[in-house]
Amino acid sequence: MAGMPDSTSIPIVTFGTLYPYLNEALAQRFAIHAVAADADLDALPDAVREARALVSFGTVGAPAAIMDALPRLEMIGLFSVGYDKVDVHHAQARGIRVTNTPDVLTDDVADLAVGLLYATVRNIAANDRMVRAGEWAQGVRPALCRRVTGKRIGILGLGRIGRAIARRLEPVAGEILYHSRRAVVDAAYRYVADPLDFARASDVIIVATSGGPETRGLVDAAMLDALGPEGFIVNISRGSVIDEDALVAALAERRIAGAGLDVFVDEPHVPEALIAMHQVVLQPHQGSATVETRKAMADLVLANLDAWAAGEPLLTPVV
Ligand code: NAP
Repeated sequence: MAGMPDSTSIPIVTFGTLYPYLNEALAQRFAIHAVAADADLDALPDAVREARALVSFGTVGAPAAIMDALPRLEMIGLFSVGYDKVDVHHAQARGIRVTNTPDVLTDDVADLAVGLLYATVRNIAANDRMVRAGEWAQGVRPALCRRVTGKRIGILGLGRIGRAIARRLEPVAGEILYHSRRAVVDAAYRYVADPLDFARASDVIIVATSGGPETRGLVDAAMLDALGPEGFIVNISRGSVIDEDALVAALAERRIAGAGLDVFVDEPHVPEALIAMHQVVLQPHQGSATVETRKAMADLVLANLDAWAAGEPLLTPVV
């Protein structure tokens, strides 16, 4: 890049299949070595083991094993905001810096959450299927759905994305409330400290927490029962935040009304039971998947790597 120190001899690893624009831009800046997400890390060639930076993305992340396979690793650039698949403690212990891509994807993920809310509560996906199947033309009348306007919207995790969802729903919600580990000082919405009270007070829960061990199974059977048979849930955060077996059971037994899901425990595998349910709207992890945002995310990964290579402060460090 013009005006920048030459970095083309710096060896870096791309871990898993990256977004093509990012891959091409990395190849112009660095000496890249591609490592498959399922590679035998004990058998990496010596040239790869020389890598000083690693570029990965949310669902692949950077477990301790890949860090240990790269003894000279200094920097991990992550093409996602969620870093639940990066062993951050291990990185910290090794003095490896980690960057992610906050903010640039917030609006798109919030848009998808709102889209899933409407698609689920208004039966948009199921009704689309019945029109395509010719059932409407044959005289089948779709079942009435529920209205969105006036619903009490519970945001689980009022972070960057949670707030963007709340802002979008302010004009239509009956009330917006939220639960997280602590109240957000400048938030205008009602904070509910107890997760079950939060679920009882919500008609729709939108899950927008971070993933990782601290939120694993946060939405459990008790919380789904507290949401109740008229309640809907939308998840754009990580599949791990909801106990997926409990969700399947609650949906199958009509203990909740429906779900809109962008994320799953074992992606890209979605439980057959969810695929078979008409009250569930499914997305293949598309929260940030727009042309505009994916480019902005890639540019932020590159800006962090350029800063690292130039010895300058990182733009969006996690650690
Ligand atoms: P963020 O600003 O860090 O917000 C995370 C929120 O989670 C905070 O409000 C935090 O509040 C809350 N939280 C964390 N641990 C919690 C716990 N144990 N119990 C309750 N609340 C908890 O992150 P963001 O930028 O909004 O992103 C949120 C997540 O969205 C990401 O981590 C990622 O997993 C997911 N995401 C998904 C997609 C997609 O394609 N579907 C795209 C981008 C991001 P407290 O710390 O106060 O508890």
